[in-house]
Amino acid sequence: MTTKVIKILSEKDYDLLYEPAKCLANGGLVVFPTETVYGLGANALMPDSVKKIFNAKGRPSDNPLIVHVSNKNQVSEIVQTIPESAEKVMDKLWPGPITLVMPRADCVPDSVTAGLDTVAVRFPSHPIAQKLIELAGVPVAAPSANTSGKPSPTKAAHVLEDLNGKVDYIIDGGSCNVGLESTVLDTTSTPAQILRPGGASKEQLDAILGEVIYDPGLTAKGVAPKSPGMKYKHYAPNAQMTIVEGKNPEYEVTRLLDAAHADGKKVGILACGFNEYKADFIFDCGRFAEEYAANLFDALRELDLRGADVIIAEFPFGETGIEPAIRNRIYKAAGGNVIKC
Ligand code: AMP
Ligand code: MG
Repeated sequence: MTTKVIKILSEKDYDLLYEPAKCLANGGLVVFPTETVYGLGANALMPDSVKKIFNAKGRPSDNPLIVHVSNKNQVSEIVQTIPESAEKVMDKLWPGPITLVMPRADCVPDSVTAGLDTVAVRFPSHPIAQKLIELAGVPVAAPSANTSGKPSPTKAAHVLEDLNGKVDYIIDGGSCNVGLESTVLDTTSTPAQILRPGGASKEQLDAILGEVIYDPGLTAKGVAPKSPGMKYKHYAPNAQMTIVEGKNPEYEVTRLLDAAHADGKKVGILACGFNEYKADFIFDCGRFAEEYAANLFDALRELDLRGADVIIAEFPFGETGIEPAIRNRIYKAAGGNVIKC
């Protein structure tokens, strides 16, 4: 299959979305930018098209997909009921980086929900995503547009690395500004549970719903996470990765760097602001959590492309705002290889 890449610079280019939208509605695969990461979209109501997503990504079939809509009214077509907590969050945080798990309607295929009796739904805020879904006129199932297990794509170039020749269209809308996936909130339980930390914070949800809790399966050993996707290895670069966690990482990072160099390894450092490391490659993700989040997946892919054997990542963040989402992704990327200092 030849993949067509369509670059959208501004609203003036939206006419270019008609063709891919038609392809999407008729069963094709179309990659599009969202505010979180790039999504690999298919018509959520066509089981055969949805299966093509799993093939293109190499995604395990027991990992359900998020269904994307272009307005709030579309939600009632794909859910049985809208729980009160979902209604409140939709009011305050949609469109945006928050996915709501609700009881599914019969029209949603098993391939989308992995046979669960719930469906995850999101209304993205990215204007290109909204326009494409609106033109397609159907709900769009869309996981992140990467090969399963690799870092999620935040630029069209990342998508090309993984999916060139496997999808009909890639809509290039530049870099994704959040850079990490949406928060997944189960609104079928009371209190509502965060199944995956992401672009919307627990503090925001607490303020709307009184209190939400994290799914105990996210951190407790021996407890299965409620979100099937959370059990898989994910976001991993090819390089072997270690996180140095804490406010003063220089000593520990330098020690690991020297040891890796003594072993003849090429070392990439994922840094958090100014530093004087003598590494082979340094990707500065920025001092603030939001910039670090937006740069993280790009950094992992870039350090791989440059040929780093080893990645050492500074991680100085805590537990508020986007920080738990960064921690979740970076711990997984490093396979839990963390040194605290
Ligand atoms: P991705 O599409 O790659 O961003 O991953 C979507 C995440 O949402 C995965 O962790 C899925 O397991 C999770 N998810 C999707 N649908 C459901 C559902 N009905 N119940 C629980 N988790 C879900
Ligand atoms: Mg994903």
